[in-house]
Amino acid sequence: MAHIHDVLIVGAGGAGLTAALFAAKNGANVGVISKLYPTRSHTGAAQGGISAALGNVEEDRWEWHMYDTVKGGDYLTDQDAAEVFAKETIEGVIELEHMGLPFDRLPSGKIAQRRFGGHTRNFGEAPVRRAAYAADRTGHVILHTLHQQAIKHGITFYNEFYVLDLLFDEDGRAFGVLAYELATGEVHAFKAGAIVIASGGYGRVFKITATAHTVTGDMQALIYNKGLPLEDPEFFQFHPTGLFPLGILITEGARGEGGILRNANGERFMERYAPTIKDLAPRDVVARSMFIEIMEGRGCGPNKDHICLDLTHLEPEVIEKRLPDIAEFARTYAGVDPVKEPIPVLYTAHYSMGGIPTTLWTEVVRDEKNTVVPGLYAAGESACVSMHGANRLGTNSLAELIVFGRRAGIASAKFAQTYKPHPLPPEVVEPGRERVEKILNGSGDESVARIRKALQESMMENASVYRNEERLSKQVKIIRELQERYEHISIQDKGRIYNTELVEALELGSLLTVAEALVHAALNRTESRGAHAREDYPERDDDNWLKHTLAYREAPGKVRFAYKPVVLGRFEPKPRTY
Ligand SMILES: Cc1cc2nc3c(=O)[nH]c(=O)nc-3n(C[C@H](O)[C@H](O)[C@H](O)COP(=O)(O)OP(=O)(O)OC[C@H]3O[C@@H](n4cnc5c(N)ncnc54)[C@H](O)[C@@H]3O)c2cc1C
Repeated sequence: MAHIHDVLIVGAGGAGLTAALFAAKNGANVGVISKLYPTRSHTGAAQGGISAALGNVEEDRWEWHMYDTVKGGDYLTDQDAAEVFAKETIEGVIELEHMGLPFDRLPSGKIAQRRFGGHTRNFGEAPVRRAAYAADRTGHVILHTLHQQAIKHGITFYNEFYVLDLLFDEDGRAFGVLAYELATGEVHAFKAGAIVIASGGYGRVFKITATAHTVTGDMQALIYNKGLPLEDPEFFQFHPTGLFPLGILITEGARGEGGILRNANGERFMERYAPTIKDLAPRDVVARSMFIEIMEGRGCGPNKDHICLDLTHLEPEVIEKRLPDIAEFARTYAGVDPVKEPIPVLYTAHYSMGGIPTTLWTEVVRDEKNTVVPGLYAAGESACVSMHGANRLGTNSLAELIVFGRRAGIASAKFAQTYKPHPLPPEVVEPGRERVEKILNGSGDESVARIRKALQESMMENASVYRNEERLSKQVKIIRELQERYEHISIQDKGRIYNTELVEALELGSLLTVAEALVHAALNRTESRGAHAREDYPERDDDNWLKHTLAYREAPGKVRFAYKPVVLGRFEPKPRTY
């Protein structure tokens, strides 16, 4: 079956739905494909807030937001992207409000704003209230608001369709995708004037993670397997406060509301590592400080293996009203009442800064000269417009979805006008069918669950908060072995209809592919910057490494690197202290 749209969007999270809305508003006939029902996308799990220099509580300026974003990214941030972002998120948040999004309010009726890590006033002077929020369910309300708007605008949804392949014509123009429909087992062909990838991140490469089971980097893996590059895949963020030991997220908003991290001695140790903004330092800084506290024997609990997040000095009303979900998580999953005792926390895999490289208008590029792949766009966590550089600030991701999702919608709708649909031959679906059949017919003795577990555990051990050559080299070998084992998997459900085991097998293939890019790039980058901390190269090295990685897959296990200059601008790279 073939479906034709002007603009086709892969992904129904915040980025995909924003792109869909704006493409539709710009006259395009839009289709959205999603492996999940849209409101189950990971955006719905976002808790703490969305950043914009609205200045509702105290003075704020987009220039300060831009500065924080550039410094937060350890100067690997492209400054043109950070500027577009800091300016356009202001309008974006107000637009969400006009769509009916139920933000928390100030007594004056304006949108309330809270503090978040790395967001400061006057270029680093003190924390500023910049995050708009709806209790600790900000992503949930964003996703529902956008979904309702998309329905209102007559957008066609293909829910529970798993994208298997991207189609390009001889001139390299992207013109379609192939997708497996869970409900029927059928492989469908989709044709479009422009395609927007908005498929989210790949937090599931690690064992301890705050991301949903479905965050598996499928489209990044497809792009990489097609010979297109991934940008900066070595930069992966660990969020400091996952609920110990499960890794469920405890929003940074808890510290934004006044929460304090303490070690076993009850000491507020962040005063030593970031004297100016303390517990509200960026995530990479806080995660490493916690690691050091634990390594030096000051971890909490009988095994001294975690840190305490103390909210007991806050008014109970603040906890119940502004942080209701995380309070419930602590009670349910850790048996701890945050009103009375500190919450046990440890870093948890959270966000992929790297991804599919794009221009400021979200066009996918194929090389360091920014040569555009015609018809292909990417936005949100799957993309790398490089506004986060080496480390993302909290609340900048939801804002990115709104800013660059909007740009993707506008640009793709315009490009789609250059396209004349003509029918697809029925055999076009064959490569997709082959991928499915290969897994269904597999009769080897390897299991998906075992390989996934081995990948996630080894990634945690060898490629997480601190890295070095020895462990990364070991991980390169482990991934290659796991990829070989993956060739011999078999699944028990041989049925074609609603085969979730098949989908999990496909997702494992994606995880192995993106993990390969991550680990090779991490081994290649011999410096420490942002979230990439090398024990054997502890300093940032601007002379040699103030540049973006482009990783190309030459063959399984063989990666080639090219480099793209960082777009500098008004903020000179400086040592990063807080
Ligand atoms: C627990 C948690 C809390 C967070 N809190 C915040 C916060 O407070 N503030 C903030 O700024 N950021 C936060 N983040 C980060 C932010 O939520 C994410 O980066 C962002 O929501 C990603 O949005 P997205 O639209 O790019 O992708 P997602 O929301 O992940 O959506 C991806 C979409 O792609 C589809 N898809 C993927 N692969 C395929 C395929 N093969 N075929 C078909 N469809 C596919 C999925 O069905 C889904 O619809 C948080 C993240 C987590 C995990």
